[in-house]
Amino acid sequence: MAAAAAAAARCGRDPCGALCPLLAYLSVGYADYAVLAHVLPGPALRGSPWCPFHAVTFNLIVLLLLACHTRAVFADPGERRPPPPPARPFTGTGLPSPEEWTVCSRCEAYRPPRAHHCRVCHRCVRRMDHHCPWINNCVGELNQKYFIQFLFYAGLASAYAAGLVLVAWLGPAGGDGAENHVQTAHCIVLLLESLLFGAFVTVVFYDQVVSIITDEPAPEQLRGRGLKEAKRPRGCRAKLALLQEVFGRGCVLGWLFPCSCGTPAGPAYTPLPACDV
Ligand SMILES: [Zn+2]
Ligand SMILES: [Zn+2]
Repeated sequence: MAAAAAAAARCGRDPCGALCPLLAYLSVGYADYAVLAHVLPGPALRGSPWCPFHAVTFNLIVLLLLACHTRAVFADPGERRPPPPPARPFTGTGLPSPEEWTVCSRCEAYRPPRAHHCRVCHRCVRRMDHHCPWINNCVGELNQKYFIQFLFYAGLASAYAAGLVLVAWLGPAGGDGAENHVQTAHCIVLLLESLLFGAFVTVVFYDQVVSIITDEPAPEQLRGRGLKEAKRPRGCRAKLALLQEVFGRGCVLGWLFPCSCGTPAGPAYTPLPACDV
């Protein structure tokens, strides 16, 4: 209930936070409808034993996409109240290093290393990457896994839908004129939607994975306070360890599902109350 109330409050501050998830749900709903009602019953796939297989597999991917999206929307991205401030939060006169505690001028509170303030949510979030209107939430330490899974399944669903349209057109019985104009129109719209969304989520997915394996979330890249070239993690082991920090140290298969099993709990901070600035 508290998570739902917080999500509703974020919608009030950022109208895109309500519109973008609605657009995502409508797009996913339309894609599912078009596949089930117009692509699979088309002349190329109708009656094929593969037809029910494609219907079940596509809906399974859609189900996982929606589950990951829901968890990314309602999960705490890493909002934490720090324990009593350390004796020496600053050790130098210049910018604090990524290892030091800092004071957020907007929350007027100490924040852990690598936490950043979100202007939409009015709170500091640990290892914040960015505020995403598509999930109406920050992408941070504790929900980045679900966000990346959402991108992965959105890309997979887009590729699957585009592939099914191409099979319907180029398959043995496709393009023989038996399909009607309504089916053709839905196939064209579905293909365009899949290409558009597929390209968009692929670019964001790539960007997210690169930010994890280089250990540089977006705010640190922007402010030039990320790790220096010489300090960047190198080698497969270091990159795998960074991926495990986000996706969990359990079985790699668990990386595909929106569950928290094997995910590091992070430092034992208590949640911050809502901050009015
Ligand atoms: Zn703050
Ligand atoms: Zn935010």
